[in-house]
Amino acid sequence: MTENMLESMLIKLSDVTTAVYYMLGGKALITINHHNPEKHLTYRVVQSKKDLSTYFIRVKTKSGYKYVGVLEHAVYKPFYTSLFYRTPKSEIPETDLRYKAFRWFWANLFGKSIIPDSLDVLRYRICCVCGSLLTHPKSIKKGIGPVCAKRHPLADVFKGAF
Ligand SMILES: [Zn+2]
Repeated sequence: MTENMLESMLIKLSDVTTAVYYMLGGKALITINHHNPEKHLTYRVVQSKKDLSTYFIRVKTKSGYKYVGVLEHAVYKPFYTSLFYRTPKSEIPETDLRYKAFRWFWANLFGKSIIPDSLDVLRYRICCVCGSLLTHPKSIKKGIGPVCAKRHPLADVFKGAF
């Protein structure tokens, strides 16, 4: 499937819990824009196979996806720690909007329940855990297939939320 086809299937997220659940599925693809739809940014959020609380953030550029940094999200119920930072391997400089936008976005999601109107958080009709195309209306609505819902990295934490 082409990226253009995917882009015609964007779904806007309105609450923070849903956005965080989707983004931490393991193979999430999201697009964000703040005020200016012309300047949307698309990120892949892929869970590390070695360390399950680590996610690698890549941003779509004209020459493919580039590594931005690491998101560490560890849950110690009922608490969690969440950090996003660049590493020496980052391909996007600290001064670059594509780094700053994600940092701002992630920091601003928390402490709110509703995503502000000025910010669009869009996801695709693909499963956040395995990345495959969703076809069942229920799965499309949730952003995850029924089998993957059970193996979502934070299935335990989000139990009953949806
Ligand atoms: Zn899946």
